[in-house]
Amino acid sequence: MASLRLAIAITGPSGDEFVVVRQSPLPPLSEEEYLLFSDSDLWDLPSVLLTPISTIDDNSGDLSRSDVEVRGAETIRETLDLSRFDLGLALDQVLKQVGLSIDKSDLKLVLLKFVEEAEFGPGPPVNTLFVALPLDFKEESLKDSCKWITKESAFELLSGVKPCADRVGPLSYIGYLSKSTPLPNKVANSRLLYQEYPPGVIVVPMKSGTLKPFSTTNLVAILPKDPFSGPCNSDSSILHADALIMDPGCKLKAELADLISSLPRKLLVFVTHHHHDHVDGLSIVHKINADATLLAHENTMSRIHGNWSGACTKVSGGEKICIGDQQLKVIFAPTHFYGYYFGSEGSALLDVTAGGSMKDYFDTTYKFMDLSPHVLIPMHGRMNLWPKRMLCGYLKHRRDREASILNSIENGARSMFHIISEVYANVDKKLWLLASSNVKLHVDYLNYQNKLPKEFSIEKFKSSCGVPFILRWLFAYFKSKLNKYLVAGITIGCTVAVAYAMKKR
Ligand SMILES: [Zn+2]
Repeated sequence: MASLRLAIAITGPSGDEFVVVRQSPLPPLSEEEYLLFSDSDLWDLPSVLLTPISTIDDNSGDLSRSDVEVRGAETIRETLDLSRFDLGLALDQVLKQVGLSIDKSDLKLVLLKFVEEAEFGPGPPVNTLFVALPLDFKEESLKDSCKWITKESAFELLSGVKPCADRVGPLSYIGYLSKSTPLPNKVANSRLLYQEYPPGVIVVPMKSGTLKPFSTTNLVAILPKDPFSGPCNSDSSILHADALIMDPGCKLKAELADLISSLPRKLLVFVTHHHHDHVDGLSIVHKINADATLLAHENTMSRIHGNWSGACTKVSGGEKICIGDQQLKVIFAPTHFYGYYFGSEGSALLDVTAGGSMKDYFDTTYKFMDLSPHVLIPMHGRMNLWPKRMLCGYLKHRRDREASILNSIENGARSMFHIISEVYANVDKKLWLLASSNVKLHVDYLNYQNKLPKEFSIEKFKSSCGVPFILRWLFAYFKSKLNKYLVAGITIGCTVAVAYAMKKR
């Protein structure tokens, strides 16, 4: 079931200023190397998760629920029953967050909007109720972690996207600053939920045949921030279009057709890599808009040929693309099956899965870190607002894995099966086959770094991969399954025998 967040735009008497809170990132990784990479400050509306009434102790809280009213809430009554949540408690928590000590009975909350989160997964959606709290005075003694910001400077931070500069978060933009609907009404009115952040970047998670825990692939659409603005660059060598979409990998024909027909005719279709959950919808895109041009690396293009019969443009990294006032740059990121990641003046879109070479993986990760991205938009799941922290987490995970593989080799493991059975002992055997490609990449990388012990033969290791590994893995996998079925069979057999014996008595 979806949970509900309350976000409050506290505004001053001028109506132009509102309060933002410095958001807390995850604690940094302890290793010194990672301390060098920290994300810039992120400022957003104060917010809390609302507590459903049934789980609250009736004696707690000094403000009874009925004391807090949201003006305009009746307009959304059919979609959201606010009486099921303790608004008083939430308001208390928000006032405490910003350090406002005012008489709550005088406060007037006004509905801004109710935003249902699209199906990003994993886990249930988090919907948000945005309300305004207009104050007739400007409180100067806010907590250190809070400040007043004008709408103008918030917009400037959002569109300037300077590396390492302060950032304004999605709650401020989606709930308070953004007034228009970026997608035309036809799609906006359908049940297709999407998210726009940063301005002009629309992420629509669409049902696809992807791997669990996800069930959707993010279709990312880039539209001009200002539809009436001129092109960001008039250079004729630059690719120009009125809109760009990435990875139409969904299986929902009607929804995708609806979305494509609502976008401008002059459309670029970028594909990060050839996996079916990223290209399944290509034929629908072409059917609805035969003028659209496909953009991909030549290796990706050669693998998706059957899905696309329209115009194609090969890209290999460095190309600039102009979508109205948005300038994009293609970044070559051969981490994963000739995949790519996009950078739009500091914001990057990532698809993170293992593959390629481990050296490429590390190099690409550092390349992204150098961009100081403000946000990462993966092709599956929610966006990440702490890009550098996340990328450091990836580096650490890979280095830890590398260390445990080297440790296993130093202790005598020589074959793929031997290494995997030690390093992935706590992981479901079902996943060992997928893990084997990662182990191969790690061993190659250890070899490249001259870290392998002399007595380890890389040739012998390679000959233990592929079919020999698969046979041993299948044997181990079915042996463990067989044991499970045997135990289950014996248990059922005993139960039946006991029941039969009792019946006989
Ligand atoms: Zn995928």
